[in-house]
Amino acid sequence: MSVWIARVVVLAASVVMIAIRAPHGQRSRNLEVTGDWKGKLEPVLLSVAMLGFFVPLVWLVSPAFSFAEYRLRPLPLAIGIALYAAGLRLFKRSHDDLGRNWSITLQIRAGHELVTDGVYRTVRHPMYSALFLYSLGQMLVLPNWFAGPSYLVTFGILFLLRVRREEAMMTSEFGEAYRAYMKRTRRLIPHVW
Ligand code: SAH
Repeated sequence: MSVWIARVVVLAASVVMIAIRAPHGQRSRNLEVTGDWKGKLEPVLLSVAMLGFFVPLVWLVSPAFSFAEYRLRPLPLAIGIALYAAGLRLFKRSHDDLGRNWSITLQIRAGHELVTDGVYRTVRHPMYSALFLYSLGQMLVLPNWFAGPSYLVTFGILFLLRVRREEAMMTSEFGEAYRAYMKRTRRLIPHVW
């Protein structure tokens, strides 16, 4: 199968993801920060994840990773497109539900409210679930051992090293309400984990 199909899908998914995020990034920058749990690790983790996001874009325009190319097959391509689509849909819905409470890093904003409805009803990190779906989709669509899994690996590192600190921040801010929310929800997969 022609690698051009993968190129078109990877480019389209990246553009949609950036378009979903853009207005939220804009708004978030203008909201006052009232609590900051970034610490020293967060900027490093964010840079690593950002790098992992850009590697597939480099693959689109340069032969730098041609040493790791393999043949694209229809089944992984089809499953990958489905995961990409599911991830982007959940990414949009979690942004809509989180609204002005979203921020790129571990921060509390002025007037921060705890969201427990919509896609936040059964899992407490649906945006991270969305990014896992997206990055798994990318790994299947992009036929390159290096560029394909790059975002899955770097986002996975960010998730693993961030999630407990994020929950500690939310517990410190919202106390019993967040503890109760943690008891009735799972982290990423409804009813499983
Ligand atoms: N972990 C969540 C949100 C990611 S955005 C998810 O995967 O869907 C990260 C920021 O969102 C955190 O720094 C925190 O400020 C905020 N946040 C996370 N969960 C929240 C919730 N349930 N209600 C309100 N804000 C939340």
